[in-house]
Amino acid sequence: MNAPAAAALAIAPLIVWRLIRTALAYRGDASPATRDFALRHFSQEDIDRGKASSKPYYLPNTIGYVVEAAFLWALVFLGFARLIEQIAQSLSSNIIVQAGCFIVIYNLVNAALFAPISIYTGYVLGRRLGKLKQNFPQWLLFNLKGLGLAVLLGWLMFGGFMLIVRLYPDTWWIIAGGLFTAFMIAIVFVQPILLAPIFYKFTRLENGELRDRLLELCRRAGVAARDVFVQHESKVTTQTNAYFTGIGNTKRIVLYDNLLNTNTPDEVAVVVAHEAGHWARRHIMINIGLMAVSALAGAFALSVAFRSESVQQFFGTSVERRTILPVLSLLGLFVSTFAAPFASAISRAMERQADRICLSLTRHPAAFISTHVKLARSNKSDVLPHPLLMRLYASHPTVLERIRFAEEKRT
Ligand SMILES: [Zn+2]
Repeated sequence: MNAPAAAALAIAPLIVWRLIRTALAYRGDASPATRDFALRHFSQEDIDRGKASSKPYYLPNTIGYVVEAAFLWALVFLGFARLIEQIAQSLSSNIIVQAGCFIVIYNLVNAALFAPISIYTGYVLGRRLGKLKQNFPQWLLFNLKGLGLAVLLGWLMFGGFMLIVRLYPDTWWIIAGGLFTAFMIAIVFVQPILLAPIFYKFTRLENGELRDRLLELCRRAGVAARDVFVQHESKVTTQTNAYFTGIGNTKRIVLYDNLLNTNTPDEVAVVVAHEAGHWARRHIMINIGLMAVSALAGAFALSVAFRSESVQQFFGTSVERRTILPVLSLLGLFVSTFAAPFASAISRAMERQADRICLSLTRHPAAFISTHVKLARSNKSDVLPHPLLMRLYASHPTVLERIRFAEEKRT
């Protein structure tokens, strides 16, 4: 069998699994006991609205996955990546500039291919379901900024990768893994001061009772947050959220203005105490550590595999060539299918830990429950998702699991 056919045969199970996932998502949680429990906290209308706001995304997202797999397959096995490489080579003889040209063309073709799905799920559905506040030009500008940033960061990483692979043909994987980790830490540092302001307007939370209370809460959790900022999310979406960001002296609490507009101070305290729990347990640093280990392991596996002539022949490229990029994305699709359940289990364990700290800091299970009911309502979340999909892929416990956890604490 030739390489394109063998690769297509290997990709087929991923697509079948994705279709099964979609069918399960449509089905949701059919257990009467879970539904009864949900109805103690949500109205039937809330439940229906959550379903109606989630279902329209399933099919377009599945089509997007299939298109992505087909696109990567065509790039690697039908020679389209080599075509992009030739164009990049004809534009410059410098390998860093060539890597940049390759990244730009690759991202533009990708964006054009996914434009119909992105516009439909991002803009049309967002407006129709009342989640998006932006008009089309605003939405387009917001996403073009995202694309610009992705190209720039992609160039930095891929240009660096190309350089290191050529300079250190045997040990590049250690250096690339180390630099990738340093890059991730730098991103966390500059995220709040350089990256987030490209997309959102921020203001400091005015001095007052709430600000004092939140900073005091962080002190009790042993987290030295320097400041509280408000992200003007209401200009973009109706989403409600809060997060901690930055390291060192860029460390701060960020609250969505939507959160302040719709929640009581007790409920805002619950959201912040949960985030403080993540910081108290150093979840960001643990995640960076896990990413560093995976990057090193991945780079090592790649360096070993691509020493083999037959692997190079199969993929029609080597690690020194720009055409390695779609191969990495395609391999990423495989690895993520198997790694996602582990990653989501770790993430859920961290969320539970943050919830436990949140409850022990606030000692207010009733506020914890009302916060999560409100969050699910305002984000129009599906409160009855399929349990198997949650176990395999959810980054957070479901809202009903969180409510049940707080109820156990109350009794
Ligand atoms: Zn969390």
